[in-house]
Amino acid sequence: MVARQVNVLLVTIALQGHMNPMLMLAKRLVSKGINVIIATNNVASDRILKSSKDSTNFPTAQNTNPKPPGISLVFFSDGLSQEFDRDENVDSFIKALRTTGAKNLSILINVFTAQDKKFSCIIFNPFMPWVTDIAAELGIPCGVLWIQACTVYLVYYHYFKHPNLFPSIESPDEFLELPGVPVLKVTDLPSLIFPSSPSIFRETLLDFIQKLDKIKWVLVNSFAELEEEAVKSMACLHPIYPIGPLVSPFLLGEEESTSGSIDMWSAENSCIEWLDEKPPSSVIYISFGSISVLSQKQMDNLAMGLKNSNRPFLWVIKPPEKDFEKKGGELPATFLEETKGRGLLVRWCPQDKVLMHQSVACFITHCGWNSTLETVVAGVPVIAYPGWTDQPTVAKFLVDVLKNGVRMKVEDEVASSGEVERSIVEVTIGPKSEEMKKRALELKEASRKVVADGGSSNQNINQFITEIIGGSFLQSITE
Ligand code: UDP
Repeated sequence: MVARQVNVLLVTIALQGHMNPMLMLAKRLVSKGINVIIATNNVASDRILKSSKDSTNFPTAQNTNPKPPGISLVFFSDGLSQEFDRDENVDSFIKALRTTGAKNLSILINVFTAQDKKFSCIIFNPFMPWVTDIAAELGIPCGVLWIQACTVYLVYYHYFKHPNLFPSIESPDEFLELPGVPVLKVTDLPSLIFPSSPSIFRETLLDFIQKLDKIKWVLVNSFAELEEEAVKSMACLHPIYPIGPLVSPFLLGEEESTSGSIDMWSAENSCIEWLDEKPPSSVIYISFGSISVLSQKQMDNLAMGLKNSNRPFLWVIKPPEKDFEKKGGELPATFLEETKGRGLLVRWCPQDKVLMHQSVACFITHCGWNSTLETVVAGVPVIAYPGWTDQPTVAKFLVDVLKNGVRMKVEDEVASSGEVERSIVEVTIGPKSEEMKKRALELKEASRKVVADGGSSNQNINQFITEIIGGSFLQSITE
């Protein structure tokens, strides 16, 4: 344990897939005696408070100090109303965050300082590179938590240093070779580098890469054994600390040092009882994370493929809460009737508990990095159905490097119903599926070792803590 109170500030965008790894990092730091404050833009506050009313919640007021070490949650305004559709107007949102948001975050940190709470370090999300300027102004050392795969970090790093090496979206037959990653086709590259994605993402990531020299620690939510080649290759370009997998302690079979979640939606826990009734390794679990929505064609074909597979399934479909959130396709009208008794639809589930359930056979996933790490830790084979951003690159990595699943073939981003059925059979039946299950179980075992005493990620996080609290405190950390 740390001998004196050490405070770390974690700053994240209020998106579920960004907040989850920050919270898990907070829990790891608390388990090692560090006091943590998580700051996020306040669009999340209503939803978090609503969804966590039945579960343990973190103190949220600025001056509420849990008996340290602990976690408290604070919100700063990005200057936009709660109703503003940040997904649709991402350009205005990111600009508001880096102007008004930055001002308000700075004020918040000064309030803590006035209360005599000093931060040993600020860790921010890579989509908020402007936090480095605030940290520099206030004289606080800063680091980043890279919340995606190291493979994706490596691709972006090369892209922003040498954009001309990269094929354009108009040349789908060209390949890209980079040290540490499989040979990539245009369809395997992160979509944010292409002009079809809003330019604000490229500007933000470029800003982040340009600021790397001012960032003292690059923590990566991955582990050396998972992305061996990418980690080695990246470490030659810029120092990194792979400290993952930052997933729920339940998935890793660990005791929770600090309970509580920052979920923006209430999970339908009754799906676990439904899973209890199903035979072992029988259920297809389907989720596309917190942001992605399927088009009507994707929805129709997936529904038809599931229906024809004759397998039980648990499908997360997050309905819009407000009118402006209505996007994407709807289920075919007869689907529920036709699959009655065999399938369960939920709005949001406790994904960690679902993946660890013995009835789950495989996971049809959009390849968000949190879901990917969670399925790796749970030892569940995957069917990759990626959409945008880092997801195509992660799908390529899953199939070519991890070999714990298959990727659906798509035409114009849509998998046919036959392809859905075929993928389910490939991952669940026959000798190839046995190989994938074996790989999935090997990865599950490896992920538990790296966070245990002496494991690579545990050593890296201890090293990071030693550096933030100063070498003389080295002996005060319990191994
Ligand atoms: N998640 C969940 N319940 C659900 C669907 C998703 O708890 O019904 C969690 C999932 O466990 C993961 C996060 O939401 O931690 C989604 O993050 P990911 O990076 O996979 O995708 P994103 O939402 O960022 O696209």
